[in-house]
Amino acid sequence: MPAAESPSADARPILPGATLGILGGGQLGSMFAMAARRMGYRVEAISDVADCPAARHCDHLHVGSYDDPDFLTRVGRRLDVVTFEFENVPAAAAESLAAVAAVRPHPQVLFTTQDRGREKAFLVEHGFPCAPHRLVRSRDELIAAVGELGLPAVLKTAAFGYDGKGQIKLTVADDVDRAWTAVGEGPAGPRECVLEGWIDFECEISVVAARSLDGSSRAFAPSHNSHANHILDVSSVPCGLPDRVLADATKNAERVLSALRVVGVACVEFFVTRDGRVLVNEIAPRTHNSGHLTIEACETSQFEQQVRAICGLPLGSTHQDTPSAMANLLGDCWGNDPAGAPREPDWAAALAVPGVRLHLYGKSAPRTGRKMGHLTATAATTAEAIERVTKARRLASRA
Ligand code: AMP
Repeated sequence: MPAAESPSADARPILPGATLGILGGGQLGSMFAMAARRMGYRVEAISDVADCPAARHCDHLHVGSYDDPDFLTRVGRRLDVVTFEFENVPAAAAESLAAVAAVRPHPQVLFTTQDRGREKAFLVEHGFPCAPHRLVRSRDELIAAVGELGLPAVLKTAAFGYDGKGQIKLTVADDVDRAWTAVGEGPAGPRECVLEGWIDFECEISVVAARSLDGSSRAFAPSHNSHANHILDVSSVPCGLPDRVLADATKNAERVLSALRVVGVACVEFFVTRDGRVLVNEIAPRTHNSGHLTIEACETSQFEQQVRAICGLPLGSTHQDTPSAMANLLGDCWGNDPAGAPREPDWAAALAVPGVRLHLYGKSAPRTGRKMGHLTATAATTAEAIERVTKARRLASRA
């Protein structure tokens, strides 16, 4: 593991008026830009597409290839510090930026967490609890791994997987061939994969946490996450699990950030087993969908916390003022009119539900499964917040 910091960085705070860079142009980048600009920073985003959510909220959008070091070096020279909003960018892109600007977290964190094989090796090396797993590079290795781990199991590509893409569940021995062909055989030949033993979990939770230059960290309360078709559907906090489980998840998340020497924000996702253990599922070196409700519910949002952490400012309080729930708005909510054109959901109906707020990301094409926005509700209890936010989504939906 390298030093936590890029060689060009120092410990002086980066103050309002400075220019912050964000690698990636998605909704996490646009919400970061809104928080940073409110605090008086300039924000420049780097994306390989011009029509992206961050374009509407940053001071400047640089469009170019993540594989073009000259482009990245040119842009990096304009920036005081750069962070990430998604991990599916080549680690070399972050290295190019790190040669001319502070990159937080360090590109090595991106390198470790963007590949399931490297991420699992990191977890094992540092003694973090996770699902039993094997690295597999061929059909024969998959057969051997199934023999060792048993079934059911899930085969996942090591690189570039998200929202359940590039993964398949194996239930019986006959599934092995089909699974290898579907996931292991890439267009350019066999791909490195991870086979994981199936965890019959009680629920899934996540912890968003921030760590500053001096090594201190602050975590938001764990979020309970339910998924539909492998995509996050509803998050809610507080999540009503025993204090011991919540403390275990929070401690493990902070230890993960510390072991990775993260400077910035990261999210650690967990499976909670039926006997109350927490197993690390995934690490994202950035803000997270399950942390969106911090905008309305917490003293400091995950996006302001990201600004504070990468700028070397004191971390804000993560205290949550009120129970809250978030429901994702996928393209599926749009439906189609008789001519086949998308029908805008009934936002007025959603906003008539008390305590509900609307966030739309400005994406033009509402495709099935595409994250177009989210709703957040606050209420006196978590159950009421979930009830409000799912009711608002149901009322808005044209599906
Ligand atoms: P991932 O992309 O690894 O987060 O997987 C997406 C979703 O698939 C998770 O949020 C779980 O709901 C499910 N999943 C992934 N791995 C496992 C596993 N080993 N056991 C049970 N469910 C899993």
